[in-house]
Amino acid sequence: MPTSRASVAVPTVVAIAALIALVAPAAFPAAARPNEVPAPPAAPPTLAQAAVRIRGESIATGGAWTKLAWLTDRIGPRLSGSPGADAAVAWALQELRRDGMTNVHGETLMVPHWVRGEETVAIVAPVARPVVAAAIGMSVPTPPEGITAEVIETDSFEALAALGDRVKGTIVLFNKVTPAHIDGAGYGANGGLRSRGPSEAARLGAVAVLVRSLGTLRARLPHTGSLRYLDGVPQIPAAAITEEDAERIHRFIAAGETVRVRIVLGCRTLPDVESANVVADLPGRERPSEIVLIGGHLDSWDLGDGAVDDGAGVVAALETLRLLKQLGLTPRRTIRAVLYMNEENGSRGGRAYAAAHKDELDRHVAAIESDSGAGRPLGFRVLAGPGAADAVRALAAHLAAAGSSAGAADVAEHAGVDIDPLRIGGVPLLGLRQDSTHYFDWHHTMADTLDKIDPRELAENVAAMAFMAYALAESPEPLPRLPAGASKTP
Ligand SMILES: [Zn+2]
Repeated sequence: MPTSRASVAVPTVVAIAALIALVAPAAFPAAARPNEVPAPPAAPPTLAQAAVRIRGESIATGGAWTKLAWLTDRIGPRLSGSPGADAAVAWALQELRRDGMTNVHGETLMVPHWVRGEETVAIVAPVARPVVAAAIGMSVPTPPEGITAEVIETDSFEALAALGDRVKGTIVLFNKVTPAHIDGAGYGANGGLRSRGPSEAARLGAVAVLVRSLGTLRARLPHTGSLRYLDGVPQIPAAAITEEDAERIHRFIAAGETVRVRIVLGCRTLPDVESANVVADLPGRERPSEIVLIGGHLDSWDLGDGAVDDGAGVVAALETLRLLKQLGLTPRRTIRAVLYMNEENGSRGGRAYAAAHKDELDRHVAAIESDSGAGRPLGFRVLAGPGAADAVRALAAHLAAAGSSAGAADVAEHAGVDIDPLRIGGVPLLGLRQDSTHYFDWHHTMADTLDKIDPRELAENVAAMAFMAYALAESPEPLPRLPAGASKTP
């Protein structure tokens, strides 16, 4: 019977405790002895000490690699709306709970659901040759029998406009080389050809678009990516073709021959589906309501495993929380990881987070995103108020002193697609910069797999994100903020 059992048990426990206290007072230090001041909590380490400990632990444990291996090999492609995306959300929630994080939850949002079907592209004149191609994300399909037409070649919207009426009824090939660059500048310059090219060509009467892949490796790999149809313009099908195939078409055209291509695309957009951003906190010790955000995007393209884009950013955020907790480095403010859904073909995750938290953006003191792979970390892009880049550079100097290559910080106009909507609240934005020389060899292709990532460089990226998150959450003075309402994200 519960009552009688309790009445026996309680006095017994009290008696035993009193006996132990009498016989062995040393077994009950501080708390059991009256009139003694409890020892003050240990002082937090200096930033220099924290940088050494964080980097050492990241390299020694390699936890990010283990997480990334699961995400890429066991889950794999995770385009919005796909079973892989759902599995990635479930996996991330489970990892965060297992690592002992707080406030672990999904924040639901509706995402586009585009699916790739058949994609067959071939030159039919002056010779018959297959073309290695991948539909551009969000493209409409061709009719089942495909579209066969003459190809007209251009390398810019200005040159396209100059072709005028000649564009009518043709397939426009945007044929521009994307040069490799340490900061991915080539991709930035050419990205508009893929995203806006189909509508610009359709405006002039084109029937379909081919885009030379925005890649930097000649391995006959088509690079997918997203397009955005402009309002009031017919929606025409679009595919990326390999650099090798673009050059072959160019050689025929340059020789004065008429090139005809047949394109069959079965891709289509299904109704939007529910998905989620994944959110978790490492609560701050003094000002838990103030937040430093860290993150990457959980979705990926469907062709590869999303290792460089952006599995690396996802596991850097997950491992940042785990490392800091493991090391007992609890900063003043809360560090919150957000793994955004749908960066690749809609950017809805970043916008959904900013909208859902709009009333507390003034308490978001900084946001860091990693979405350029896992090459050697170089430092941080800083988009914040005056003097912020200098302040970040001063913090990053501790990283450099600890042996990291991520000691730089520079003013930038863009820090990350997913965190960009936070500009509306004036949140200081940081992008983790990597050596991206080889990032565009693989990203958005079927070759975006785990083997493209060096475990040591991944660990260095984790260390850079973890230290900067810790330092920003620990610093007495937050970074200068952007003017609120400055969002440029459409
Ligand atoms: Zn990405």
